[in-house]
Amino acid sequence: MIGSKIIALEEHYLPDFLTSYWEPTVMGMAPGLYKHIKSRLLHPQVQRSQIMASAGIDHMVLSVAGPGVQAETDHNKAIVLAKRANDELGVMISEDTDRYSGFAHLPMQSPHNASAELRRCVEDLGFVGAMVNGHTHGVYLDDHAYDVFWETVSELGVPVYIHPTDPPEKYFALRDQPMLRRPAWEWTVETATHALRLVLNGVFDRHPNANIILGHMGETIPYLLWRFDSRAKFLRLPDDTSPLPSEIIRRNVFITISGSLDHAPLNCAIEAVGADRIMFAADYPFEEPEEATEFIRSVELSQSQREGIMSGNAVKLLGLDTLGA
Ligand code: ZN
Repeated sequence: MIGSKIIALEEHYLPDFLTSYWEPTVMGMAPGLYKHIKSRLLHPQVQRSQIMASAGIDHMVLSVAGPGVQAETDHNKAIVLAKRANDELGVMISEDTDRYSGFAHLPMQSPHNASAELRRCVEDLGFVGAMVNGHTHGVYLDDHAYDVFWETVSELGVPVYIHPTDPPEKYFALRDQPMLRRPAWEWTVETATHALRLVLNGVFDRHPNANIILGHMGETIPYLLWRFDSRAKFLRLPDDTSPLPSEIIRRNVFITISGSLDHAPLNCAIEAVGADRIMFAADYPFEEPEEATEFIRSVELSQSQREGIMSGNAVKLLGLDTLGA
């Protein structure tokens, strides 16, 4: 019997006033599955506690199912709706702080407002970080306009979870094959590319204390570290001693196992970035939490690795010390 608690980091809900932003991301989903997922997203309190109990999840960090207000073209409306979503989440988690905490939902159209809202969420509502749903109208987080945001992130000492979203333009090569669109491949490429933009375009040189979290076992990045370093050396001057991509990734990037329940990529991630940078996530309600907890309880790991991934690493990164491990 494994005694460690389980803390889950990529667990979604959806306020009814943000459903219109979410609907396009599930176009083409089988009608039965769509209904099932939507009802779980919209009525989180009804089913969530039973599902957590049966899966053995002790604590969930809740976040809005994307893209949320980042898809809004009216900046003021995005600011108002993000605040409303965070206020509601603040109430939800304050009713059961042992079981829930929150990632802020932010109006990234306006880096100053996003920074201020993050600060309010962390300092006033007790949130443990932010979830950003990829680019915002084609602008990625390596843009210098977001320096103010990263300064706030560093000062508050909270991580930013970079969640997948649709790319600004459809990749030509993905046409005519539904399996390549969205979660299975398109979002992986888009989100990994976003993270690499941060690594390669100096965000972590300018903000060495900022941390990001990637879901889905690091969106393939752990598998490619050697290749990134090899090509970086090829492109740079011989006397350039700045950190290689792998060094930055091992310093500023954490990953979760959401939607990637397989021992081979987990072992690769452990080898590549270290077990102490890997955390549990179920990606509720898009994946079944029970499958994820069963996987992390049974996959071959040392006891300290398993306990770290299940809860210890999240306790440290998110400051959830009151929960213990
Ligand atoms: Zn997710």
